[in-house]
Order: sequence, then C-alpha cells, then structure tokens
Amino acid sequence: MNLAEWVHRNGRRIPGGPALASGAQVHATWADFSRTIGSLARSFIERDNLRPGDRVAILMANRPEYLEALFGIWHAGCVAVPVNSRLHRDEVEYIANHSGARLVIVDNDHIGDAEHAAGADKVLQVATSDWLDRCDYDRVAVQDRLASDPAWLFYTSGTTGRPKGATLTNRNLMAMSLSYFADIDSIDENDAVVHAAPISHGSGLYGLPHIARGAVSITPSRSTFDGNELVRTLQHWTGVSFFAAPTMVRRLAQDPVVAKADFSKLKTVIYGGAPMYLNDLEEALKIFGPRFAQIYGQGESPMTITGLSKAEHADIDHPSWHQRMQSVGRPRTDVQVRVVNERGLDVATGDTGEVIVRGDVVMVGYWDQPDATAEALRDGWLHTGDLGSFDEHGYLTLQDRSKDLIISGGMNIYPREIEEILLTHPSVAECSVIGGPDPEWGEVVIAFVVTTGGFDADSEALDALCLDRIARYKRPKQYRFVESLPTSNYGKVLKRELRQQLLDG
Ligand code: AMP
Repeated sequence: MNLAEWVHRNGRRIPGGPALASGAQVHATWADFSRTIGSLARSFIERDNLRPGDRVAILMANRPEYLEALFGIWHAGCVAVPVNSRLHRDEVEYIANHSGARLVIVDNDHIGDAEHAAGADKVLQVATSDWLDRCDYDRVAVQDRLASDPAWLFYTSGTTGRPKGATLTNRNLMAMSLSYFADIDSIDENDAVVHAAPISHGSGLYGLPHIARGAVSITPSRSTFDGNELVRTLQHWTGVSFFAAPTMVRRLAQDPVVAKADFSKLKTVIYGGAPMYLNDLEEALKIFGPRFAQIYGQGESPMTITGLSKAEHADIDHPSWHQRMQSVGRPRTDVQVRVVNERGLDVATGDTGEVIVRGDVVMVGYWDQPDATAEALRDGWLHTGDLGSFDEHGYLTLQDRSKDLIISGGMNIYPREIEEILLTHPSVAECSVIGGPDPEWGEVVIAFVVTTGGFDADSEALDALCLDRIARYKRPKQYRFVESLPTSNYGKVLKRELRQQLLDG
C-alpha cells in the first residue's frame, strides 16, 4: 500500500483536527495536509515529470513542510531520500548523485548546497510562491505501490567510508509502525509527537506511527530543543511523545527549567541510538517519572530490533531492575533476534557474539551497493555489527560495536563496561573509552574524560574506582581530560575521531 493513505484516511475521519504544527501554531489540519500532498504530487508528476520509483531528496531542517514533502513524494509513488541537513555539501552531493535524485526539496538555508549537488533546475524550495502554487494544484489520485517497493532511502551515518543507503520499503515502514503499537505505545488523535531530533533520521521514522493514528506532528519553533521548548510544548499539547538520543535526555534532565515542569501531559520519551548509561537513566527517571521506553535498532532495521517498555522501566522493585536497565530489552514482536559466533552458530546464554536480526522490518539491501548488501544480509539475516549477549530471561545487553571492541594482550575488553563505572564517579560528567595502539599489548585502554567542574579529576581516584569494580587488565592505562567529546549530528560519540586524536598525538 501507499503510506500516503494514512494521511487521506485521517483527512476523512478527523478533517478539522491538527495534523502539523510549529510549536503551538497549527500549520495544517488533516484536511489541509491531505489536500496539500495530493496537489504536490500532481505538481511533481506534471512539472517535474517524476514517475513512480523516482527518487526525491529532502534537505531541510525540521519544519512542517518536511512532512508535506515526504508524503507528497509518497503520494506520487516516488521514493524519498531524507538527507541530514547538517551534512557537508560534498556529502549531500554524494547522496544526491548516488541515489539518482531527480529533485531536491529544500528550505532557504540549504538552497546553495542543493544547487551545488543537483543543479538549480532540480531544486524546489519550500515556503516560496512556487511551493504555495504547487500546494494548490488539483489533487491527483494516490499512486498504487506494492509492499515491496522502496519508500525511504535511509543513508546511514557512515562510520566508515561513504554513507550507504538502506533501502526501506513500504513493508519495512509498515512493520516498524505496527511494532510500535505492539511494543511501545498505542496512539490516537489526542496525542502529539514532537520532532526534537532530525526528521531525516530516527525522529522522522518514529513520527510515522503517529501520523498513521492521527496524532499531531510538531516541529519545535526554535532550532534547538531545550527545556523551555519542552515546557512550552507541554502547555499546549496533550499526550506528548518524542524521540531523543541519550545525550539529549541527559541534557534535558539537567536543565533547571525542566526540574520544575509539570509532566502530566508528557506521554513517552523514546530513547535509543546510542548507549544510555544507568546513572543518566536513573537521574532522568527521577525527574520525568516512568515515561521512558528504550529502543535498539539501526537504519537497516529501522528503530526495531529490541525494546525496553515503559512498564519495565517502572518496575523498579524487580530484583533484576538494574541489570535490565543496562540492557536494550527484549526482541520486538515482529522480529527474530539471535546472537551468533563467527561461524554463524548461536552462542550460549550469557556469551557474547554478533547480534543478527530477521523480519519484515529489515531492509531489502543497500541502494546500488551489492557487495555491502551481501556482507550485511546473509541467508535473510541482517548482521548488525553489534556485539551483545542474551540473559536467561531473553534480555539483550549490548557490549559495543564490534569495531569498538578493545583487544589487549589477547583479552576482549568492552569499552561500555568501563564507561559505566567511570560515570559513577561524581567528578566525571562524560567519558568515552577506546583502544590505543600499543607495541606490547596490541591495544591498551584509554579513557577520555570530561569532568563536571571543568578541571582534571584525580586519575588515581578513577584508577582506584576501576580496581574496585573490574578486572585489573580492563582498567584504563591512560586518562585524557578533555573539554568535550566529539559527537555526530545525532549525538553519538565519534570514537573514530578520538582514535584519530590519539594518532595525531
Ligand atoms: P544508526 O543506523 O545510525 O541509527 O546506528 C545504529 C547503531 O546505533 C546500532 O547498530 C547500535 O550500535 C547503536 N544503537 C542503537 N540503539 C541503541 C541502544 N538502544 N543502545 C545502544 N546502542 C544503540
């Protein structure tokens, strides 16, 4: 089916209800949204000569028109290529070329990059008279699409080499949305989703189940989503959910405005995308209450491999609560998840191996990259590159990405374990542990630490803390006190940059 049908159904069911908003301001009702995407689709077909299956890139910051563009593209039967708006123009150019985008839809801030990438004749700017004119065309019928047709090319952050476009079909996005209802939350038209993170990534994907069920999609009125913006949102809207990377959860929990806020209208904070440290989660739970759900997924299996529900977060008297909060939860309803060794055989409960996943949510492959596809998808299983282990109750704990694993003197050391311990020290605000080259041991453990007071913490105290909690061979041989850690646009710590810093001395 064509996912644009969701919008049209709501257009008939709740025509006057708010569909898109910027802050407190309603941008479009469901009737407006439905009309607009049908009109845009006609303009794509008649003016841009687009045909079903053609790719259309979107390069803009979060704003209501983002979703008009996305669903307009789908209504016309085309494939959306949401591009992270903070990428360098050469990266934008690479993605536009690699996906073969025939049109790039942009906001005012990205017009230069889009013209550089695709040429001025292939660029359409939102909120211009041209755009408004297109929003007024007579609507065209929704193009028929198969479940197996691509809908979204999700270019991964590309920790190594060029970004790869995970090809997500209508079936993948449908499975992801249904799984949200099964495992995370039910949603209705009294609810709201705030795009606190980029729509081009996780927030946009998780926005889809909200659109399916008629909740309003809100883009923050300012570019940064902080405590003030959250409080304002909660004053205007009910049943509010948002997706946040763990760094954002921590930042919000520390925001003094948030500490005094009324959270009765906050429904769910979905976090994921990077490790959430237990200390941070406990702090956040104290402030926001049991409104958290965790998800573990990747672009290749959009937002859906395992999950830790709100009920599990709330069950603090459970004897395994601490252990569970350090896990990424249990396999989601619509997937099979296994942990395997190098030969592809299941490892024993408690043992570590690579996490692999199979299900309707798993991508069909990388766009135009047969070798990378063959590497990632083997016998129908997606090889995630994440290392983890199952406990006897089926909870999966992730250690690290396989490439972040440290091998020192032949022993496997998982950085996450050491990071969790260092973070319990009161003078450690943030930290990241990597392996540094060493002639004797192969690699040695090195900790980059941001302190709370802006001064160097006592490395002897940190050493004593580690000695007290973990095997001697795992403790950092070196501490580097830094002002901040390098992070990606999605708030993930970039370990490869830390490794580079080491090499650069
Ligand atoms: P991306 O495809 O850019 O979203 O990155 C996906 C990767 O982020 C996964 O393969 C994991 O390594 C990591 N990740 C995602 N969710 C979690 C989570 N809940 N906890 C820890 N790491 C996560």
